[in-house]
Amino acid sequence: MMKNETHKTTGNKMMKTTRKEKSQGMNWCAQATRLAIYLRDGLACAYCGASVEDGTKLTLDHLKPYSKGGDNSPTNLVTCCHRCNSARGNRPVRTFCKAVAGYLNHGTTTAEIEKHVRNTAKRSLKQCRIEAKELIARRGSAARALASM
Ligand SMILES: [Zn+2]
Repeated sequence: MMKNETHKTTGNKMMKTTRKEKSQGMNWCAQATRLAIYLRDGLACAYCGASVEDGTKLTLDHLKPYSKGGDNSPTNLVTCCHRCNSARGNRPVRTFCKAVAGYLNHGTTTAEIEKHVRNTAKRSLKQCRIEAKELIARRGSAARALASM
């Protein structure tokens, strides 16, 4: 057991970085789930509506920030464009929706945006998981399916 001391230390060190890695690393959300969430949200940013057709690169945003105890479950995640993701930071959803209403500037209210974001996260992922799996099977891998978006 004494021999394992070093391993134990390394293990703890890894444990310490895991939470951060989980929220920031490439694989904190399994690719099939990530793809299913993108499909659930119509391949568009839940905040501003920018879509893959507009050339938007999609990301996932935690409604309740991971740093504030939010988890990686699909009900806490929405599809989000890079612009919105970096603009939000750790601001609460409502505060950020107000900012989005400001920069969209086409008459959509803060309340409408927030309602859309909240409803989006609540939608069932079941059908989207099936679609994601089919897409992955067709493309050969989740990475390729995601790269095509
Ligand atoms: Zn956006």
